[in-house]
Amino acid sequence: MDLPPSLLWPLAAFVGLCLGSFLNVVIVRLPVMLMLGWRAEAREALELPSETQPEFNLATPRSMCPSCETPIAWHDNLPVVGWLKRRGRCANCDAAISPQYPLVELAGGALALAVVALFGPSWQGLFVLGACLALLAMAVIDLRTQLLPDLLTLPLLWAGLAYQLLFQPLLLSSAVIGAMAGYLVLWSFYWAFKLITGKEGMGYGDFKLLAALGAWMGWQYLPLLLILSAGIGAIIGILVQLAVPRLRAAPMPFGPYLALAGWVALLAGEPLMAAYGRFFLL
Ligand SMILES: [Zn+2]
Repeated sequence: MDLPPSLLWPLAAFVGLCLGSFLNVVIVRLPVMLMLGWRAEAREALELPSETQPEFNLATPRSMCPSCETPIAWHDNLPVVGWLKRRGRCANCDAAISPQYPLVELAGGALALAVVALFGPSWQGLFVLGACLALLAMAVIDLRTQLLPDLLTLPLLWAGLAYQLLFQPLLLSSAVIGAMAGYLVLWSFYWAFKLITGKEGMGYGDFKLLAALGAWMGWQYLPLLLILSAGIGAIIGILVQLAVPRLRAAPMPFGPYLALAGWVALLAGEPLMAAYGRFFLL
């Protein structure tokens, strides 16, 4: 692919913003779809009559205001611009629309630009962008709902193995070990913590997410991923608790920090690993 830079950069930003807009739909609807599914399964297991639910998936119903349920016009639904145009309010009822929408869209645009800067317009870049966007969706879903759906973590793991097979076949064994060790490390932390304190510090989704990152980057990156996520988590956790004391007892999801560490490792992994190696070996 040979695009002039004057076309490539705006195109990457635009595609990133649009993908961010789609991620917002996934972030808001996927947990609801899962809940509806679990509810239907539970009713079936309890031999209760099934409920009739209106159709609900990523495409249906159309985007609407969460408060008054008025469908959103396409020109108010444009990434970032639509939200700014209405100053973060619904055109019909004036209810506030969460800044999550433009922020996720901007993050999608920024990730697309970063991937193009580092990988160029290539198939490898497309895979990495997919991983970065999947991590974005998981981070926000985990923040909102404390869920890391298998529907996202497991495909990310398979995609990581496929990525290594296609682009770095010599490193495939370190990716397989990375996936296994990533799961096992957090699983062991979880059980050690539970046996000692009687509390659950993480969820199984966190193990699967670190397994996925291990597949994308190989087992050599696991210590770096753990140090980054725990470090970022500790700093943000302390800052949030100082700034908003009422959040002191709130559950702290670990997925967003794993996702942040994943972005850093995917986009800046090689120079960081070199620095990390120097720091620990010399
Ligand atoms: Zn409204």
